[in-house]
Amino acid sequence: MAELSVSELSEVGTDSLKVSRFLAAQDPLALLAQELGVKFRLYRDEWERARTFQSLPPFPLHVDYEIQLKCDLRCPICPNGLAQKGHKGQKEPLALKKDAVIALLKEGTAQGQRSMGFGGLWEPLTYAELPEIVAVGRELGIVDAMLNTNGQLLDRAKSLELVKAGLTRLMVSVDAATAKTYAIARPGGDFGLLESNILGFLAAREELGRKLPILRLSFCVTRLNEGELGRFLAKWEKKVDFFSVQSYGRFDPKAPALFPKNGPFPAPGGRCAQPQKRLLVRHDGTTTPCCDLSGLSLTLGDVKTESLTEIWAGARIQKIRAALAGPKASWPKACQACQAKYG
Ligand code: SF4
Repeated sequence: MAELSVSELSEVGTDSLKVSRFLAAQDPLALLAQELGVKFRLYRDEWERARTFQSLPPFPLHVDYEIQLKCDLRCPICPNGLAQKGHKGQKEPLALKKDAVIALLKEGTAQGQRSMGFGGLWEPLTYAELPEIVAVGRELGIVDAMLNTNGQLLDRAKSLELVKAGLTRLMVSVDAATAKTYAIARPGGDFGLLESNILGFLAAREELGRKLPILRLSFCVTRLNEGELGRFLAKWEKKVDFFSVQSYGRFDPKAPALFPKNGPFPAPGGRCAQPQKRLLVRHDGTTTPCCDLSGLSLTLGDVKTESLTEIWAGARIQKIRAALAGPKASWPKACQACQAKYG
């Protein structure tokens, strides 16, 4: 893997299993605690207890909503047929209704949910009402509201909307330091537009006198971009709050054409804590114990017929938790193959 030769950055964060390397001049969790105060500290304490199996919260502390199955890019690292197939012949993308997401947020925040995200196989900024959902979530008691995006639709108006809505973390996937590499790594995207959107977001946040959302730029190292990591970090280190450096190798180990030359980060060991603290609700209402894409076969239930409370206490997730506490041979197949297992 390319060298990390950027002087002011150091490894920070709680990704003890090293799926990603978080680099920053200041710990992003400390920044969030500074801005969000005691509510954030309490929620992170609970997170830590769940992550280390000391307790199981009565409701997932974090829920991801894949509100619709729609993306504006066609990236080769995307594990889903979505990138290749698109949605030809489909007038409207498959989607959860806004009111359904708000109902899920009401249920969650009443029972201890403190964090939300928009994980899954989609681009959240393709959903116009997203800032409204973020604002409602924050009003209901969500402390940490995070969003991953490819940044193409992050224009000035959207940046202002997201800052005002109370988003706490914005994570933009970049994966390149040059337009040439970006065109291969993120086909359909415009590198110049991305860079101006990132700078525009920073300007909008400053204009509103806010420190949140903190901004993370992400770089997934593949064979396509591995020579550009150092340049990417140097270009942005004085501007953004932190970086996540990941390494491609999670989705199809039998097709390693995109693996970096030095190979992916080593597969993590240890017991997965995802089902102790989070759930993902997909666009069709089905629910999985994690936002890791290799775990999408672990369907736990469907919010159209069960509440999230029932799903969280249900036999299916209990069986997965029990299996993950045992030897690897007892884990679900998706977990045996999974290289995420976030701590
Ligand atoms: S091991 Fe992977 S697939 Fe299984 S629950 Fe954890 S993150 Fe999800």
